[in-house]
Amino acid sequence: MIRTQLWASGGGVQSAAIAALIVMGELRPDLAVIVDTGREQSTTWSYMDAVIAPALSAVGVTLHRIYKSQFEERDLYGGVDNSTLLLPAFSTRSGEVGKLSSWCSSYWKREVIKRWANRHHVELVDTWLGISVDEIGRVQKPRSHKWRTRYPLIERGMNRGDCVALVKRMGWPDPPRSSCYMCPNHTAQEWRDIRDNKPADWQAAIAFERDLHRRDPHAFLHHDCVPLDQADLDERNGVLFAHCDSGMCIV
Ligand code: SF4
Repeated sequence: MIRTQLWASGGGVQSAAIAALIVMGELRPDLAVIVDTGREQSTTWSYMDAVIAPALSAVGVTLHRIYKSQFEERDLYGGVDNSTLLLPAFSTRSGEVGKLSSWCSSYWKREVIKRWANRHHVELVDTWLGISVDEIGRVQKPRSHKWRTRYPLIERGMNRGDCVALVKRMGWPDPPRSSCYMCPNHTAQEWRDIRDNKPADWQAAIAFERDLHRRDPHAFLHHDCVPLDQADLDERNGVLFAHCDSGMCIV
């Protein structure tokens, strides 16, 4: 049986490179989709609307923007008793600083895409993810016969620099990093970028954390476990970048 080729765009540099390969005729997805979690950084959609979607449309490919809220009722909390925080937040609940898992990436993106794809009556699916060779540790084992994952950039031996160069060759502006504005996986540099260049996103992240503390005063967005607007965002106070579990975020 023929497998449906489904491109799950993450909206970042590697995804822009996949878009370029599609425009060049090297790749052709049957379905192309990006999930709007409702909390994406504002620059993602302006780049998508101005650059990526029109270029794909010109070669007959529609990048569907679908809304997490239409496919998943759970938001910040999930699990059997709806008490598990789905964010990869830092937590002081145990008395030590711990890091929670990125369940949100699966709940808000991977499962949402599956439900959307099932509406298209797919039977066997290869989901393309924009992971490059320098991120090979993010490659996942196949989870089922129906849902497999392909990595078009790794198949071509492309690293992040190759992706940036390809996007430049297309004459496209540099793609913004794509992630939720309040993602606890942000590096110090990413937080500074949001604080200094995207003030509305920065204020939204601060407000988000305040709301979060009403239910869980032990959960924080920054590894110092202080409110974001009090955190030291100097590079020397950075942590190693933590990827999400589903492979669908920060690409
Ligand atoms: S970007 Fe971060 S907060 Fe958003 S879904 Fe991915 S892991 Fe979760």
